[in-house]
Amino acid sequence: MKHVTRKATRHVNQNEGLIFEKSSPGKAAWKLPPLDVPDVDPSKLLGSAERKDLGQMPEVSEIEIIRHFTRLSTWNYAIDLGMYPLGSCTMKYNPRVNEVVARLEGLANGHPYQPERVSQGALRIMQVLSECLIEITGMDAITLQPAAGAHGELTGLLMVRAYQQSKGNPRKKILIPDSAHGTNPATAAMVGYDVEKMQSNARGMVDVVALTAQMNEEVAALMLTNPNTLGVFEQEIHKIAEVMHAKGGLLYMDGANMNALVGKVRPGDFGVDVMHLNLHKTFSTPHGGGGPGSGPVAVKKMLEPFLPKPVVITKPDGTLAFEYNRPQSVGRVRAFYGNFGMFVRALAYTLANGPDGLRQTTEDAVLNANYIRKGLEGIYDLPYSTPTMHEVVFSDKLQAKKGVKTMHIAKRLIDYGFHPYTTAFPLIVPGALMIEPTESESKEEMDLFIEAMRSIAAEVEEDPQLVLDAPHSTRVSRLDEVAAARKPVLRWKPAS
Ligand SMILES: *Cc1c(COP(=O)(O)O)cnc(C)c1O
Repeated sequence: MKHVTRKATRHVNQNEGLIFEKSSPGKAAWKLPPLDVPDVDPSKLLGSAERKDLGQMPEVSEIEIIRHFTRLSTWNYAIDLGMYPLGSCTMKYNPRVNEVVARLEGLANGHPYQPERVSQGALRIMQVLSECLIEITGMDAITLQPAAGAHGELTGLLMVRAYQQSKGNPRKKILIPDSAHGTNPATAAMVGYDVEKMQSNARGMVDVVALTAQMNEEVAALMLTNPNTLGVFEQEIHKIAEVMHAKGGLLYMDGANMNALVGKVRPGDFGVDVMHLNLHKTFSTPHGGGGPGSGPVAVKKMLEPFLPKPVVITKPDGTLAFEYNRPQSVGRVRAFYGNFGMFVRALAYTLANGPDGLRQTTEDAVLNANYIRKGLEGIYDLPYSTPTMHEVVFSDKLQAKKGVKTMHIAKRLIDYGFHPYTTAFPLIVPGALMIEPTESESKEEMDLFIEAMRSIAAEVEEDPQLVLDAPHSTRVSRLDEVAAARKPVLRWKPAS
């Protein structure tokens, strides 16, 4: 399927179709049989609760309602429609079988207040998922409680602080490279640490010599995104760990990019002390739309006493239970036990893939990113030539000469039927185009994407205005994004 076809089918109906404007008096989507019970005055039944004025509800036919909502559902982009190359977000496909498993009655209807005795299956799911994630990360213990990646960071740093405190001094600083994800410095600040920025070297990696000079007994931990936001693996990670440990610091790894590592290397083996995972990225639980996330935090042995409580334990009689008696715990970080539905999906995904499947996933994710890199090299500027893992970061340097910036190119991509890539992030690349295809995409889909990106680059040369004014095929074009975020119009209100 060529992108032109997809463009046409995705936006056939430009009909505005606001349901309230379609209203005309007396139209209805229902017809009731004649009344065959006594006609009672509603005010006698309801008293003052009777609603006299039904407001200006739209009067429409059934087909108008059906078309209205069906049309609305096609105005959003979705992974079910095409590639979603949003770098750093790992918008991979979420296999339907995960959904089937998560909807099993006994799991979907389980209640967190159910006694442990009748929740053994749910506890077992948490325990087995924990074991799988510990094996995958090479760590010693884990909490499933945090509800997102950033929440995992918070939990992890609270444990770092509790650990350092137990050694006599919580310390003052957290070191964070300029290639880190933006949540890292925000988290460190929330926990009360001073953030000390570190400059990446020319290869986009942590400079071990500079780190050695910067590291001292005031530093509680280094927070390292690995692979970092350039999609670059920190090749000297074991040396980085040694430098940290030599002065009593810990190594926190932001593991949201584990899609590049699962089944190949284990952070626990290269010196990481604490890390979070994003189940809603790497382990294919639904992602986006403000839905529930899950950010488990895995730790080495010495941090285990500080894990949030409760933790799942096996009692001497072999049954499972929640353990609350943990005096050094940082406490609870979330109501109940975490987003249980996400655990079910992540476990279904992990077990369905198995070790070989997960390894293949990683290899395909890296292969796909490099396929796109090769397809666009020379067309778009590549600021770092270091090998790319699961995502690739270009810049708009060549197109900017014509006044076209990364945001314009992203908007034009919408016309070609693709969700935009991540724009203007990471910050260390001015005008960044951050592309992450994930392993879900076929060669055909990536070829379409590459063709679209090449075509846009040609348009920039021939007719930059076409790109500057994009998108042309959507119902609304350039939104005031600040106003859209600050003053969203979320519901219809009658004209007063
Ligand atoms: C997505 C991401 C996060 C934040 O995860 P959330 O679930 O959105 O809070 C942190 N670090 C990296 C590297 C990420 O890609």
